[in-house]
Amino acid sequence: MADVREVIVLGAGCAGWTAATYAARADLRPLLFTGNELGGQLAMTTEVENYPGFPEGILGPELMERMEQQARRFGTEVKIERVTAVDFSQRPFAVTAGGETYHGKAVIICTGSTPRRLGVPGESELWGHGVTACATCDGAFYRGQEIVVVGGGDSACEEATFLTKFASKVTMIHRRDELRASKIMAKRVLEHPKIEVAWNSVVEECLGTPATGLTGVRLKNVKTGEVCDLPVTGFFLAIGHDPTTKLFEGQLELDDKGYLITDDHQMTSVPGVFAGGDVQDHTWQQAITAAGTGCASALAAERWLSEAD
Ligand code: NAP
Repeated sequence: MADVREVIVLGAGCAGWTAATYAARADLRPLLFTGNELGGQLAMTTEVENYPGFPEGILGPELMERMEQQARRFGTEVKIERVTAVDFSQRPFAVTAGGETYHGKAVIICTGSTPRRLGVPGESELWGHGVTACATCDGAFYRGQEIVVVGGGDSACEEATFLTKFASKVTMIHRRDELRASKIMAKRVLEHPKIEVAWNSVVEECLGTPATGLTGVRLKNVKTGEVCDLPVTGFFLAIGHDPTTKLFEGQLELDDKGYLITDDHQMTSVPGVFAGGDVQDHTWQQAITAAGTGCASALAAERWLSEAD
């Protein structure tokens, strides 16, 4: 067998870069596959105000670039490729990407999570024609226009607040009468003159065609049953994420929501395969907790490798 790496890392978000930095500094010659989402969730966010060490805040993409530089500085080899198959049934473990198979004595999975969709009529057809899940990518297209943000968590509040820079009015659509978001984020939304909240409301349909673009959304009030059409040109989804674990089904144990199950040393159900970040965390899902469990995965892998040798 050609080169067998000590550690292969899957994923290029907070957890992946941190795991790679620790593994590289421990001389484990990590090979990191970025997948399609270089920078993970933070690459699609704006200001990060709660990452320790940045009292003035830092832009998400900049934080990710810095983490990447740090991982590369200690010798992480990076492949900008999506992993298409894994085989954890024997050691060394096999990871396939770009038609080639790579082998690692240990693997650290940091594949994060992907934005959820509602699954209502019109949503898929109008994706990229007014319907999106990325305010930072697409916000500037909606200068002076009326838009909606769907969701009631921190992401929805952050996106709604960010989008007021461009949009003339932002309506947040939330299915309950209380926001899930943290108090500080919710307060910003509720006090913002450009943001209105449509409480107890769900989207039934996205209106328009790819030719016209989005022309509105059909809303239903779940308390009264009343249905109305809201004319808007932008629809931003922020209803949470699902863990990116499809690749591991049948090989690693997942919980009932699809998250990887790890022990208190970040080990999955297969010894030698570790996981960190949102792919195994349905509770905290913060940049700093992802970095923390990414770090723990690398330290645990290092210890496991030294004991396995
Ligand atoms: P989240 O906290 O899971 O919130 C998802 C929101 O979408 C909830 O309000 C939920 O409604 C709503 N929702 C889910 N499925 C829906 C559906 N099918 N139809 C309508 N509404 C639906 O997800 P998130 O906001 O992406 O945040 C994820 C994690 O990242 C959290 O831990 C959050 O604190 C963190 N985060 C932190 C920051 C920050 O601190 N700067 C920024 C962004 C995210 P219900 O409330 O009714 O369940």
